[in-house]
Amino acid sequence: MVAELNILSEWIPEQMGPGTLFVLENAGDVGENEDPYWAVLSCPECATLGLITRKQVVGLIPVICGSDCCPAQFFIKDEEIKVRKPS
Ligand SMILES: [Zn+2]
Repeated sequence: MVAELNILSEWIPEQMGPGTLFVLENAGDVGENEDPYWAVLSCPECATLGLITRKQVVGLIPVICGSDCCPAQFFIKDEEIKVRKPS
């Protein structure tokens, strides 16, 4: 798993390698008012793309990979990826 986020400022699908984050152009407009979708993140383990919410971007709640065959769970902390310890 990569340990640091790579932040893209432009949507370039070919560059969405593992651990790449792209902030949505309409960040905050989609999803729940409480915790709207904020960015697209490529899983740091398997590169599966998924939408993440504002609370996930700031590290309040963990990101869980959307792929069925990938167990990745992690927090985002200051552009770093912290693997979530099993509790
Ligand atoms: Zn994954």
